[in-house]
Amino acid sequence: MSIWIDIAVQAPAHSQVGGLLTYRSPVRVQAGQLVRVPFGQREVLGVVWAIRDQAPQDMPTASVRDVLGILEGLPPLDAHWRQLVQFSAQYYQRSLGEVALSALPPQLRDLTSEQLARRLKKQKTERTVQTSPGPALSPDQMTVLDQMATGTGPFLLFGSTGSGKTEVYLQAVERMLATDPQAQALLMVPEINLTPQLEERVQARFGSEAVVSMHSGMTPAQRLKGWLAAHAGHARIVLGTRMAIFASMPHLKLIVVDEEHDPSYKQQEGARYSARDLAVYRGRLHTAPVLLASATPSLESWHLSRPAESEDPGGRYQRLLMPSRIGTGLLPKVRRVDMNKQARRAILSTQLVAAIQERVERGEQCMLLLNRRGYAPVLHCADCGWKSECQHCSAFRVFHKIDRTLRCHHCGLTERVPRACPECGNADIAPIGRGTEQLEEHLGELLAHVLRPDGTPVRIARIDADTTRLKGALERQLSQVHSGEVDVLVGTQMIAKGHDFRRITLVAAVNPDTALFSSDFRAPERLFSLLMQAAGRAGRDAAQSATSEMWVQTFHPTHALFEALKKHDYPAFAASELAERTAADLPPISHQALLRADARTQEAAQALLNAARETLQAHLSADPATADLVLQVSVYPAVPMSMQRVADVERAQMLLESSSRMALQKMLWHLHNVLHQVRSQPEHKGVIRWLVDVDPQAI
Ligand code: ADP
Ligand code: ZN
Ligand code: ZN
Repeated sequence: MSIWIDIAVQAPAHSQVGGLLTYRSPVRVQAGQLVRVPFGQREVLGVVWAIRDQAPQDMPTASVRDVLGILEGLPPLDAHWRQLVQFSAQYYQRSLGEVALSALPPQLRDLTSEQLARRLKKQKTERTVQTSPGPALSPDQMTVLDQMATGTGPFLLFGSTGSGKTEVYLQAVERMLATDPQAQALLMVPEINLTPQLEERVQARFGSEAVVSMHSGMTPAQRLKGWLAAHAGHARIVLGTRMAIFASMPHLKLIVVDEEHDPSYKQQEGARYSARDLAVYRGRLHTAPVLLASATPSLESWHLSRPAESEDPGGRYQRLLMPSRIGTGLLPKVRRVDMNKQARRAILSTQLVAAIQERVERGEQCMLLLNRRGYAPVLHCADCGWKSECQHCSAFRVFHKIDRTLRCHHCGLTERVPRACPECGNADIAPIGRGTEQLEEHLGELLAHVLRPDGTPVRIARIDADTTRLKGALERQLSQVHSGEVDVLVGTQMIAKGHDFRRITLVAAVNPDTALFSSDFRAPERLFSLLMQAAGRAGRDAAQSATSEMWVQTFHPTHALFEALKKHDYPAFAASELAERTAADLPPISHQALLRADARTQEAAQALLNAARETLQAHLSADPATADLVLQVSVYPAVPMSMQRVADVERAQMLLESSSRMALQKMLWHLHNVLHQVRSQPEHKGVIRWLVDVDPQAI
């Protein structure tokens, strides 16, 4: 006897073998089991997706190949997990096999049944949860937990920085474990490396046995171990980055998404999924409450949690509020410095330098934020106009003074800084603009005479992608800040997120203006949340919070964004942004998808997109069943991407927009078919690839 089964295997993206392949098995198998199957000349891992009740009709049965083996000892991936994968593949327009296989730990692909059996034997089956008591809850925290207990969610917890949100997550997990001893919780964070403290805090509360982490910084062996523990139900709490949304957790009963606004929840390659949005979907599948939390929620979640109002029935999320900091902690006072009144080209205003000096002399810490690494973004020759452009990208190469290089941050091209202008030989080429490296150097000069209370000289440190390249470097640098070895910390947005620095009393945004006038409609939202987050690093110790300050150096001090920041008024900011988005019919009011094409020339990239667009519209209009779709979904002509060329590849994009998510999804389905057809035409040979980004984060 043999049975026919459909199996998900990792197929190259957009290959015709997108979905499932049929195999034959001489033995009984169950959906969700992992198997090894022949695929072309190779042997690959597959997930049994469905058992067929009859032989395939569309192919000669003799050509169906046999399953080579079953990974024994592993319980099948359950129906919820398979449903999550299926939904993600469909919604984000990727093949089922690709999503399924990339959701599994990579090492699983290489193990034989025997090796796997050995790993499984080593597993601790008895993982005890040892809950240590937390602090007595604040009234706000108590109210929020009660609301969670009586409502169904999804919940959006809008709580200021330092209001005790993390404590709410921990107590929610504790309550869940108290009612269901088998239950599992998924705690998602944007980036684990940035918040090692959270990992410690969760382990301290529930015992290190019960908690596993999942993020890309782990070794393949560690990832497999954690995955197996979650899959078997032994690990009770999974703490992870966006990839953890696909963890197999058979007893999942609670999902928390910390800093839910953070763009790193959106995967930017392969299946471009939003782990935050999938969390809401997954919660519904498992009937598990979902708690999204932030001090500056995404406008999407804010809009979805709006209260009912006359005509409007309100959003489907429930909004929970924790407006004040724990204890007597106050939010920092926001001070705007009008840079129009400073010396021309001043990097730091005199007032800010004086304020930093004063704090350092009192033994307090300061943090300066500049969202640009390197020494200067461009080198320039004043004689002939030469600039340090990258030959391969539509971008300038950044000057790094430390090793005297010019580096392209897009393709990685790195060269020694030329001694003289490569065009005209002028020896006097100069940096324009500034990055963190220059800010650090400049501060060193300005504060050279400043002493700490113990009489030793001020210590300045920098944290950005350049200083943290080596493994463990970030942890080391952060711990220097925590221990007080550093007085002034300079860095990119890396330092603004999540850290619980206790002694920082002054935070300054050195040059936040560029985001005010960006072509990306999400830039103000990003800037506002970055500045609120940054402000949240100041005065976390209640004793010092009354004197803590957030400084903003700007040429536009009366800009509405800074006015709202001054009042720590996210709702006011959100209301005005949403009004603009509504007027312009932008997300979250409408829904978007991007189709992108990469080619050797811009014309070729755009030609594919425009051909797809025309074919699609002709095809849909011709059929009365789909003619409506053309009216419901706007498909815009192809344009170059804002980063038009990267590593000699030209990139173009086409925007699709609709007020109906469903209509947009239907359109994408048709588009997918059209693309396969158009792409195979000889005139589009020059196209390297195309891809779809649903709910893109940047346009
Ligand atoms: P958030 O996640 O909102 O930034 P945290 O949960 O990190 O806030 O809380 C900020 C600080 O307050 C932490 O040091 C935390 O230990 C402390 N904290 C939180 N809740 C309480 C409470 N109920 N009683 C005392 N301290 C608390
Ligand atoms: Zn020159
Ligand atoms: Zn480049």
